[in-house]
Amino acid sequence: MSNCRRCGAPQALELKNGRVVCEFCATSSLPLAGSGLLEDIIDLGCEAQTDCPGCGTRLRSGLIEGQAVAWCSDCRGMLFADVAFAAAVRIRRAAFGEYGRAPRPLDPQALERRIACSRCRRPMQVHPYYGPGNVVVDSCYPCGLVWIDAGELVQIEQAPGRR
Ligand SMILES: [Zn+2]
Ligand SMILES: [Zn+2]
Ligand SMILES: [Zn+2]
Repeated sequence: MSNCRRCGAPQALELKNGRVVCEFCATSSLPLAGSGLLEDIIDLGCEAQTDCPGCGTRLRSGLIEGQAVAWCSDCRGMLFADVAFAAAVRIRRAAFGEYGRAPRPLDPQALERRIACSRCRRPMQVHPYYGPGNVVVDSCYPCGLVWIDAGELVQIEQAPGRR
């Protein structure tokens, strides 16, 4: 449990669009490293050739479970090729074990955000993820890309269901 930087209130251990939001003063912040809420990303030490669709920061090249990812060092969102995303989900769910952590309900507000594909600049399709975890993902089907916010892979990984 951590406390809100602004008002000091204890903060819930769950994320909203990749950020911890204070219930009392609505200040939002990234979860701390080591909180277990964020994905561990191996940084490959170079920039990716695209910008973050969420915040505009130049993405960095990285690896998650051996899968290539372009990730944002600011908002910690992640851009995957769809096959790499499916592989990362499969590997993480298999490794997590059998005890699932019930995810919070899907946040309908997350379906209202619109972001543009980093590659083709067309609007991404926002939709509930078809697997477990109650997360909302953004897909560009022509480019075969998936954007997920910070912590959503952890939420998918830990949700109950078949592994
Ligand atoms: Zn607060
Ligand atoms: Zn970002
Ligand atoms: Zn695209």
